[in-house]
Amino acid sequence: MITTMREILPTTLNGDDAGRLLCGFNVFGYEEALAVVQAAEALGAPTLLMVNRALAAHMSPSIIGPMLHSLAQQAHVPIGVHLDHAYDITIIQQALDSGFTSVMYDGSQLPLSENIRNTQRVSELTKAAGASLEGEVGTVPYSDLGEGHPQFTDPDQAGKFARETGVDALALSVGNIHRLEQKGQVDIDFDRLQEIENRTEIPLVIHGASGLSDSDLMQLCQTHVAKINVGTQLRQAYTLALKEYLRTHPQDFDPLRLRSATIPRVQMAAESILKICNWNELK
Ligand SMILES: [Zn+2]
Repeated sequence: MITTMREILPTTLNGDDAGRLLCGFNVFGYEEALAVVQAAEALGAPTLLMVNRALAAHMSPSIIGPMLHSLAQQAHVPIGVHLDHAYDITIIQQALDSGFTSVMYDGSQLPLSENIRNTQRVSELTKAAGASLEGEVGTVPYSDLGEGHPQFTDPDQAGKFARETGVDALALSVGNIHRLEQKGQVDIDFDRLQEIENRTEIPLVIHGASGLSDSDLMQLCQTHVAKINVGTQLRQAYTLALKEYLRTHPQDFDPLRLRSATIPRVQMAAESILKICNWNELK
């Protein structure tokens, strides 16, 4: 069933979903989205299908949005459709008109006052559409784009941003880095995270979860972090499965068989992350 991010953000401190993290998975097409939905159904985990900025540049949200929305509608667990890292209000409006149920406005590169002003404007759009909104304070760099050092989230700025924008969730830079290719390459600054938690009640978000150790992820389950973003681990699973299929079926040229061969491995990767985030049938 289709849902918004707000409805499935774990409360983290009490309730049935305490100690769990909502996993947002970047998907790039039908097969990965289907694999994520199947993983979510297998573990009874509400989940987000996310479109990242590279995909949104490659394929208009008006094309990918209805497909993901339809997949989410047919799922047996609540699934949201999320546009990640949007900088442009035109793209955000297009996404809201095309089946996305949450967006992230990323004004983190701007001065705080401008970030707040723009986020407030986007908040009016998401409210009108009945969608959820994520913002960001501090900058999470991309390991593969040669972007400079992270600008860690300032706890006072995070508190001010949360109060003045009313976003549903706030993305932080506390040691996390996008697109790391191995687990455990960075450490979360839990002291800074605690400082941020002392200044705001808002659900917090960690991007770049593929680069975190399992123990950091498990520790995050006990904080106000309510959502993680996962991209690289699923892209690796997809491509490994595709290479393996091509190696073992060198004569095959059928796109459907090639793409379908990726589904089990992507599903397995998504399930293993969901399990670390405490989604399992036994709980
Ligand atoms: Zn991100």
